[in-house]
Amino acid sequence: MSTPMPSVPRPGYRFVPALIGRSTDPGVIAFVECPSWCTVDHIASRSVFLEDLNHEGERRAMSFTPSNGARVPVEVYLSQWPGTHEPQTQLAVDLDYEVETYDRTAALALADQLVAFAADVRRLAQTLPDDAVRSQADEALRRVRGGAA
Ligand SMILES: [Zn+2]
Repeated sequence: MSTPMPSVPRPGYRFVPALIGRSTDPGVIAFVECPSWCTVDHIASRSVFLEDLNHEGERRAMSFTPSNGARVPVEVYLSQWPGTHEPQTQLAVDLDYEVETYDRTAALALADQLVAFAADVRRLAQTLPDDAVRSQADEALRRVRGGAA
């Protein structure tokens, strides 16, 4: 059983072409409702089945780069899987390629936690010595050590 295709998309959506089918097949073009925030090219990024099609918004990223050089990316974006049992838009949080999704309340709670964390980072950073003072101290220490050698 299928629902007939509406002739006009819902508010905040537009119809876009999507390529459906296995990569070994030519595939078929289906017109799907796509939210206005979606940045996915549904032709270039084909879905094997219509139910696999998902919408993703622009990604916002922050990287932590520890001294061992292994970058730990954190990305957030809007995500929607219309063909699943949870078709509503959620916030996807991709932490080093592990993706968790949050509904509105959980996403706002996460944002509050991040704001509090940023305040802690700022408070601790402000207790650090001034960068200029530190370089002068390093220079003085280097001269003392150089003189003793
Ligand atoms: Zn889309």
